[in-house]
Amino acid sequence: MRTVVAPVEGEYVRVESRSEPGIEVNGIPATLECVRKADVRVDLVDPDAVCTDDGRAFVVEHVLGPLRLCGVTAASVTGIASEWDFSRPEHRFCYATALGPDAVVSHPAGLPNPALAKAVREVGTEPIDGETRATLSESVTRETDVGSITVSPAETGSGVSLDLEYAGARFGADVPHDGARGDVIEAITTATTPYLAPDAEVAVTHAAADVLSDVVVLGGLEDVRIEASLGGAYHAETIGVARRAREQGAVTGLERPAADR
Ligand SMILES: [Zn+2]
Repeated sequence: MRTVVAPVEGEYVRVESRSEPGIEVNGIPATLECVRKADVRVDLVDPDAVCTDDGRAFVVEHVLGPLRLCGVTAASVTGIASEWDFSRPEHRFCYATALGPDAVVSHPAGLPNPALAKAVREVGTEPIDGETRATLSESVTRETDVGSITVSPAETGSGVSLDLEYAGARFGADVPHDGARGDVIEAITTATTPYLAPDAEVAVTHAAADVLSDVVVLGGLEDVRIEASLGGAYHAETIGVARRAREQGAVTGLERPAADR
């Protein structure tokens, strides 16, 4: 596991180090169990909360993706937005349910938080004890009318490799356990969401952040190869394939000693 050396802030979030494995967003664990909505965006709710509108984090993929790109796998994320922006549907939802604007932890322009990625790289990351590395025992595929995604086993410690297609454009990247190359991080975090992207190249580059968030962070899969042809509200597929991997019993975990990172 890796965490940030010092607290950092990006667009509308503050990220602090955590001594336990995993990422929390506004106190909610970033796990498949807490995913409440996965279509055009991903929201988390605490499954133990009595009223689920009480504790909810909106658009978490645009903070989880950049953190994984930087190698961060243990952190506490807190929303820090204090102003309403009623052009955003998530803000209208929050206002209607008595949540604050800080429940929305994403960049308003649909970017995977380039300022956060820059800040994390500036302060640096450090390994902590307690690492678990999970991969798959077999490939898992999910197909729909608009695309398909296959997640395949990879060697322990190898990290993630991505081969993505969106509207005819392709993007590939390697994301080792301690983070991607600087130019890869910058390319992905400055690429706009497919709903606002000027062309397919930008859209497919952006999708890398979403796939990392959903399959790797929320899905809890550290060492995998991911091939996907994406379209439509693709978080249903990226979250869906991670859920299918669990249902099929294909997830295999491995505790590694602290010295073997
Ligand atoms: Zn996105």
